[in-house]
Amino acid sequence: MNQFPVVDGQLQVGGMPLTQLAARVGQTPFYAYDRQLLRARVGDLRAALPASVKLHYAMKANPMPALVGFMATLVDGIDVASAGELKVALDAGADPHEISFAGPGKRNTELRQAVAAGVLINLESFREVDELARVSDELGLPARVAVRVNPDFELKGSGMKMGGGPKQFGVDAEQVPQLLAKIGEAGLQFEGFHLFAGSQNLKAEAICQAQQKSWELALRLATDAPAPVRFLNLGGGFGIPYFPGEQGLNLRAVGDKLAQLAERTARALPDAQLVIELGRYLVGEAGIYVARIVDRKVSRGQTYLVLDGGLNHHLSASGNFGQVIRKNYPLVIGNRMDAAEKESASVVGPLCTPLDLLADRMELAVADVGDLVVIFQSGAYGASASPQGFLGHPPPLEVLV
Ligand SMILES: *Cc1c(COP(=O)(O)O)cnc(C)c1O
Repeated sequence: MNQFPVVDGQLQVGGMPLTQLAARVGQTPFYAYDRQLLRARVGDLRAALPASVKLHYAMKANPMPALVGFMATLVDGIDVASAGELKVALDAGADPHEISFAGPGKRNTELRQAVAAGVLINLESFREVDELARVSDELGLPARVAVRVNPDFELKGSGMKMGGGPKQFGVDAEQVPQLLAKIGEAGLQFEGFHLFAGSQNLKAEAICQAQQKSWELALRLATDAPAPVRFLNLGGGFGIPYFPGEQGLNLRAVGDKLAQLAERTARALPDAQLVIELGRYLVGEAGIYVARIVDRKVSRGQTYLVLDGGLNHHLSASGNFGQVIRKNYPLVIGNRMDAAEKESASVVGPLCTPLDLLADRMELAVADVGDLVVIFQSGAYGASASPQGFLGHPPPLEVLV
């Protein structure tokens, strides 16, 4: 699980020993994201996926502006989920034509900004059609739209389900024909469909099945569309391994399936471009969280290492961001990688809540005050997905190395 080399007992990050990087950053805690790993991950995807499938980065996984700017040079488009993210994507130099905007509850001001920017808006309600018709008229600009469909199936084995059954996302498949008619009447520029079934899936078979079903559903719905389908976004949901026993996704299997779908698309929907949108899979394994041990204590036989940051910076690693059963993220003492002496220790943050637990009785190198704890698999849903204001501690820094 460890993509970062070790030299003389020190984890190497961005080509330097961890302690040197910490000195360079100037403070702990911090997140570090590795450009080389990001580039390699995109390369692996390009090698496995058919060339005709467009690869988008869903930036809610990690919205750090420098990282989004770097990703924008590697992928074909950026998916945003708020006007705030839209600003970062545009600042990053992403081509507005290849930006798409999804999310329930888009405010009128956000829809107006999206039309002005010329990005593709994934419609999620009938109200958005009315508002976009009004805004498009007012600005004298086309409103580019795709329909986000809430499918009539679920993504099996997914950590977080975001489609199927009743959902706040998208428009139920059975209501889509009515929505398409309304889009036509309102004069919006229809460009395609968007389906996103769920997140953090490690089973290639389940992903393939969801993409197949999404594709078939889109093909059925396309018969009612007011214009040819130009973008068919099949979502993603590719997961990464976090815990012992978890296996990385079989990318080859997913790529082979997408190649089949790409061939069928060329015949059935000749104007359509297949798109997949990935967040976690693109950035998750390229990032680490680094915090310093500020105290070491023993309570009734149990050793505690207390850090200068915890769930206020890294909610996911504490198990409070979508995990059903709390498990330890991969965590090491980054400046004692070769230590022969090990102990069982619990690693906690500085917050006055028992939820602030980063490792529960884990086998670690014997560590002391001043040592650096590293949490791997931290490039996605880290800093921006954590309650940084909770308890008033300073925020973490983020660096791209
Ligand atoms: C969250 C989200 C993603 C990214 O999901 P990952 O599991 O990080 O790949 C992609 N698309 C939509 C619509 C999302 O809401």
